[in-house]
Amino acid sequence: MNIAIVGGGIGGLATALYLSRAGIAVRIYEAARELKPLGVGINLFPHAVRRLYELGLEEPLSRVGIKTRQFAFYTQHGQLLHEEPSGLLAGYNWPHISIHRADLHQVLLDATLKAIGPERVHLGHPCTGFAQNAEGVDVHFSGGLASIRADAVIACDGIHSAIRRQLYPGEGKPVFGGINMWRGVARGKPFLSGATLTRVGPISTGKLVIYPIRDYDDGTQLINWVAEIRRHVDAPNDWSKTGRLEDFLPAFAHWRFPWLDIPALLEASVPVLEYPMVDRDPLPRWTFGRITLLGDAAHPMYPRGGNGAAQAIIDADVLARELTRGGDIERALAAYETARLPLTSEIVRTNRTKPPDHIIELAEQRSGYQPFTDIEAVLPKAERDDILDSYRRTTQFDIAAVNGGKA
Ligand SMILES: Cc1cc2nc3c(=O)[nH]c(=O)nc-3n(C[C@H](O)[C@H](O)[C@H](O)COP(=O)(O)OP(=O)(O)OC[C@H]3O[C@@H](n4cnc5c(N)ncnc54)[C@H](O)[C@@H]3O)c2cc1C
Repeated sequence: MNIAIVGGGIGGLATALYLSRAGIAVRIYEAARELKPLGVGINLFPHAVRRLYELGLEEPLSRVGIKTRQFAFYTQHGQLLHEEPSGLLAGYNWPHISIHRADLHQVLLDATLKAIGPERVHLGHPCTGFAQNAEGVDVHFSGGLASIRADAVIACDGIHSAIRRQLYPGEGKPVFGGINMWRGVARGKPFLSGATLTRVGPISTGKLVIYPIRDYDDGTQLINWVAEIRRHVDAPNDWSKTGRLEDFLPAFAHWRFPWLDIPALLEASVPVLEYPMVDRDPLPRWTFGRITLLGDAAHPMYPRGGNGAAQAIIDADVLARELTRGGDIERALAAYETARLPLTSEIVRTNRTKPPDHIIELAEQRSGYQPFTDIEAVLPKAERDDILDSYRRTTQFDIAAVNGGKA
């Protein structure tokens, strides 16, 4: 079997690792001429970390990421709403890792180059489309590059997937839900536990997600943040577009809390990146004969619950298992879709309506966006747990499923 993977992002590299481990010959075709360290922070919950460790990446990930120990939710007034342990401390057999996307990408790339050899990673190959018949698939590229032939093609070419566009020509642009995001990193002293994934404020007034992603020898950390504000923007969906501090800093100007001076953190972050919160409606099908979609090409979702990278990695695992079951390729790709499409569609919908930070929204609404004296009277723990547990079940990272090997 000879498989072409289009796109060398997180999903494409994880797919290459899983397939090569299963003894399947793969080649990667990536549009970028050079794989640069791009993006900011990403969370990998235990359902993703379990798989990355299975791929032999425990040691390099431990060197670059932070093992996050706690989730904390605060109001816009800096009042603690809810906290709970995360990863190993919560009882999972695998940690929760917060990491710079560039570090995660580099760890996957190093492992891929070792597993399949650099001659099988083709940079500067922007895919423009494909043609298939009963025997195989021809993949076409721009810039006069020769087409290649493969037994099957896995489209891992992200939210603007060229292959998805060919399969669904009428789909158009990603769906913008009215929230804009600014993202950045700054080096600073550890805050809270030094390993806390912190969510602050409701989306109606402006929300921040803040967590450390790298430790330095001098005791400082690289602290990642994402600001979300309900605002219409015409910014393109380009992960590398730079943004302006003055466009969002005023919403957080008074957020100087005893546990973190947020305006100082935002001001210390250069550059700031801007990205509209977009996703796409779930599709009825990903697999068409010898072609299938994976990761953001299949199910781009709001980056709200730590599942964008994780679900791409899980896709890769399930796809490899189906392809190694034997039988024909088309059956395997169809079985992969059956296993993954309904679940990921549900995550896309849940990230729109009831992500984990929904508990901040509810508490703030009920307290009239004012400080409160008793959180139990506003949003009892049982209700908070219910929302968070429900999200974990939908995204398959509840402890029973992960430790039981089902997720
Ligand atoms: C530059 C960049 C920065 C990002 N930064 C963040 C971040 O800071 N935080 C976050 O949560 N998520 C970020 N993401 C998205 C995140 O990586 C994905 O949501 C998630 O990891 C799923 O991975 P994926 O492989 O499906 O998609 P991606 O990681 O987006 O990878 C898609 C890959 O396909 C390549 N590609 C695109 N079109 C073509 C084509 N026509 N032919 C060949 N190759 C193609 C792209 O160059 C890219 O390498 C970023 C993505 C990119 C590309």
